[in-house]
Amino acid sequence: MATRTPIVVGNWKLHNTISESLALVTELKNQLASLRDVEIGVAPVFTAIQAVARRLDDSNIFVAGQTCHWEDRGAWTGEVSPSLLADAGCSHVIVGHSERRQHFGDTNDGVGRKARAVLDAGLAAIICVGETEVQRDSGQTDATVSAQLDGALRSITAADLPCLVLAYEPVWAIGTGRTATPVQAQDVHARIRQTLASRFGGDLAETVRIQYGGSVKPDNAENLIREADIDGALVGGAALKAGDFVAIVKAARLATGA
Ligand code: PEP
Repeated sequence: MATRTPIVVGNWKLHNTISESLALVTELKNQLASLRDVEIGVAPVFTAIQAVARRLDDSNIFVAGQTCHWEDRGAWTGEVSPSLLADAGCSHVIVGHSERRQHFGDTNDGVGRKARAVLDAGLAAIICVGETEVQRDSGQTDATVSAQLDGALRSITAADLPCLVLAYEPVWAIGTGRTATPVQAQDVHARIRQTLASRFGGDLAETVRIQYGGSVKPDNAENLIREADIDGALVGGAALKAGDFVAIVKAARLATGA
């Protein structure tokens, strides 16, 4: 079985001014400087990306965009492209977050186009999938996640996999304080890996990191990440407090024996 380096990313959503962002990453940089066995990232608001990236320049923490458009340049008012995010200092972009799907019309196909554009710009794509509570309660979890993966992976090839991260984020667990149990999460993660195996072969599927997201906190992170197919966390609320985020990163290291 491949050894996968755990990856923990803080999604700051619509929070933090430039100075608040700098205060937070300075704290993270100080507390996580010596930690080498976990990949760590933060996704600030667009306006803070460049300042945060400069502050993290010589650190082990990368910067991610929270979304992007699939077009590179042109008449797309309000949008930002992967190459412009790279220009500002990003190495990763999150695509298909459920808040984008719910409130801003991101479709499965659109997420696939965005992922392709991210990879074409030389960045890594973090693709989010996950079912709503209604979908789970009506037995539609597999069908929902599978349709999301179909759209997202449509133009992804085996050569893209080193730059691909998936995030399973059940919508009912995001920002609600309700976390999927480790067993519930592992069950979906294992099926996501099977989908990868059927597309790219078992050996390559074993190399792809699949993060869990949905009310990850210092006290539940380790048990979640201990599961065989859970390779880290995409963290919302708890990423806004340096102490909580640092504790989650350390839990990821403990859980994977990294
Ligand atoms: C998220 O926004 O990706 C997320 C998982 O949020 P929270 O940790 O607050 O549930």
